[in-house]
Amino acid sequence: MDLFDRASELEQLQRDGAIAHTRKNAPHGISATECEDCGAAIPAARQAAALGCIRCISCQTIFEKGQA
Ligand SMILES: [Zn+2]
Repeated sequence: MDLFDRASELEQLQRDGAIAHTRKNAPHGISATECEDCGAAIPAARQAAALGCIRCISCQTIFEKGQA
């Protein structure tokens, strides 16, 4: 059933895409385990303290300065 295999593969891709999309567009709730900018691991303490964070402290500071 080639068609079925393709359908489930597509469904899987869409689900993965949806998760990534949700993470990028919903900054509150789920913290990233790795920094979005530099890829460094985000300490569990920071993940808990800054729910929904997607950057390490260094990159978040740079990001906020850039916005100001
Ligand atoms: Zn970083």
